[in-house]
Formats: sequence, C-alpha cells, structure tokens
Amino acid sequence: MATDAEVRPDLPARQFDALLDAANEGPGVQFDGLYVHRGAEDYDRLGGYTLGTPEEERTNLSESEFHAAAAARAEYVTNWYFWRHVVGGAERRGGVEGDAPRHHRRAFLRWVERADDGDQTVPERYAALAGGVSREWGQLRVTATLGPAGERRYELRHVDDADASLDDLDAFDDPLAARDVATYDEKGRYRPLKTAPTLRSGWVIRNLDQRAVVQAVDAFYPATIANWNLERAGELDVSHWDETAERQTGIYDVVDELSGDAVDRIAESCCVDSQCLKRRMWDENEETELGPERGEGIFPCREPCSLVIAAARKWTTLEREEPRTYEFELTPSEKEQLEEIVDAVADGRIDEIREADVYDGANRYRARYLRAKRFDEEGNLSGTPTEPDGADAGGGSGGDASESGEADGDEAEPAE
Ligand code: SF4
Repeated sequence: MATDAEVRPDLPARQFDALLDAANEGPGVQFDGLYVHRGAEDYDRLGGYTLGTPEEERTNLSESEFHAAAAARAEYVTNWYFWRHVVGGAERRGGVEGDAPRHHRRAFLRWVERADDGDQTVPERYAALAGGVSREWGQLRVTATLGPAGERRYELRHVDDADASLDDLDAFDDPLAARDVATYDEKGRYRPLKTAPTLRSGWVIRNLDQRAVVQAVDAFYPATIANWNLERAGELDVSHWDETAERQTGIYDVVDELSGDAVDRIAESCCVDSQCLKRRMWDENEETELGPERGEGIFPCREPCSLVIAAARKWTTLEREEPRTYEFELTPSEKEQLEEIVDAVADGRIDEIREADVYDGANRYRARYLRAKRFDEEGNLSGTPTEPDGADAGGGSGGDASESGEADGDEAEPAE
C-alpha cells in the first residue's frame, strides 16, 4: 500500500511486456535500484522470475506473480521503461544499465531530475517529481514533473518567473516558441549573443516531452547541452584564441594580429558573467592563460564566438593606431563626468539613469550640458581637432572607409 508521500504510477501492459521480454531474453535489468531476471541467476533464463528493489526481493515468481510484484513496484518499472525505451541512450556496463557516452539528451534529462545524485531512491525521486523538480540552466528554469505512467513532462520559464502564476505568463506548448522568445530582449532589442544574460521574462513553455524540452533549450542556448556533457566526460574540444584567429579568412583574417594584452581585454569586455552566461574555457593558447575571470556559468564556452571575432576585427584596426597627445580644457568635474559616462555605457546602465538624477555624470541632461559647453560645431571636444590639420579622422576609428560599419552589415561570417 502506497503511503501519502509515495507516488505509485500505473503499470501499462506494454511496460510490463518490455520487462518480461528483458527477463526472458536476458540478461535482465539492473537499473536505478531495480533488478529483474529469470532463474536463480541473471544468466539462467529458466525457472521463476526475480524482481528486486532496495526495499525487497521477490524470487521464484510465476509470470502472474511477477506481474503483481512489478505492479507493486511500478515506480521502479516505469522509471526503467522511461529511461530505457523512451529516452534511450542506455549502455550496459558490468551488468548495470548506465548512460551511453555522448548521449547528451539523456545526460541532461537525468541531471534535471537529479537522477544521478545517488542519494534518492526511485520512490523518493517520484515523490519529488510529483511536485516538480526544477534546475537552472543559464536564465532558464527547467522543471520536470511526472505523468500517470512514469513519463516525464517538462516546463521552461525564466528564472525570474519562478514563482509567477501561469495566468501572468504568456503560455506556449510549441518548443519552437523558444526561438521567438530568445530573439529580442525586454526592450525589444535584437539579441546577437544567445547566451547574453538578457533573456526576457514573462513567458512559459509547457507540456514538453523529453525531446521537445531539449529542442527548446537548444533554441535558447545552442549547443550548451552537448558542450556541458562533453566537458563532464573530459572530452570538450577547446579551440583557443590563437588557433581560432588563425583559422579566420576574408575580412576576419586580420584578427590574428591582436596582441595577448588585447585578447585579454576582449575576454574582459565580452566574456565575463555580466555579459555572457558561458564559462570561458579558451585562453590565448594552450600555454598562456588569459587574466579575466572565466565565469561561473554551468555550460562552458569552447572557443571565441562569432560575435567576439566580429568585434575583434574592429579592435584590430583600432589597435593599429599610435597614441597621440591632445590638450583638452575641462574642469575636474567634467573630466570625472566623462569617466562616469564611459563606465555607465560599459556597464549597460544608461537606461537605468533617471532623467531627474542630475547627480549622475551619465545623466542625459548632464551629458547634453557638457556637449553644449565643450563641443564645437564640428563635434570636437574642447574645440580640439582629432587630426592636427583639422581633417576628420573617420569617426575616430582611424580606419579607412572599407572598415566602417562592416561588422554589422557584411554578410561574411567569422569561421567557427
Ligand atoms: S566567446 Fe565569450 S562572449 Fe562569446 S560565447 Fe564564449 S564566453 Fe560568451
């Protein structure tokens, strides 16, 4: 008799038939605490059936007794059926069914419900699943729940909506809804980097099966499940900066000119947790680590991404310039204000600065006042031309016309 805390699913005929086949055809089942075989040993194939769990062992059973014993331990049988026949990717090692290498979907789904943590029996795991087991994947909250015959259903929502009522969220059933949700941020701006921490909230994707949930997660964060699982197996193939830069062709061919210090600055600018949820595993090269923090993200970054390479192309042209000495006339407060403006832009705080907050140097009115006071009609700070003869330097990039604006508009893609 199941207690209140226990969740005893139905045992559909096809699941029992699959168990019977496994027992009859050998070598039986050994999985998540369930063991089943025919005969006194798992190599016998003759005689009565054996069904064991951590709670009890039943031996020398007739087929009908075996069926009754399986129904009485339906948590274990439906759990085995789900992982063996629905998810797949099982591999037998030393008689025990485990995860096949590089079966990323199975590894992820077992991680979601903490199946491999090893401190819960299947009935305990089922009791937890009945209420929903949730884990965070970047800004996603992935929740697994239990169906009546042991099948799992999954839900995705933003981590900030963990406690939100369903009525307050836009609900979808299609995993492909993830593509639309992931395309624009809260303010409707395009998100060029899928792993930037700018995923909008206010939505839920529900009723996903074991394939659909992985498809949706992949749409939010492409390849993160595969790379996470490869890293767990010690098989993540990292491509460092030098190697990746060397591989670039066409307009991105120049990025291998960047110095190690510049690559350090790139990692600090783009790859830290405030900008990207991946954990950077690449360095300048195998021997030379980069200085900035790698990040705390659960999924690794195995190589500089296309956004970083495209930005690096611009930095390559900027780094070709030689420093010059300029003379500007600014009050001490104006100098500090310029520093505050750069900080606010770099930290993405501009939209948070209230119009009335004129104490913040990056306040719009403060910036407009500074411009009115210190810029001449050509937009030169303190009336000081960029070029000594007053010629326009091309927007301060120092590059030629062919460089300007191509990072966004050019159809060429950096080599992955
Ligand atoms: S290269 Fe940097 S910004 Fe790009 S995905 Fe990797 S960690 Fe994120």
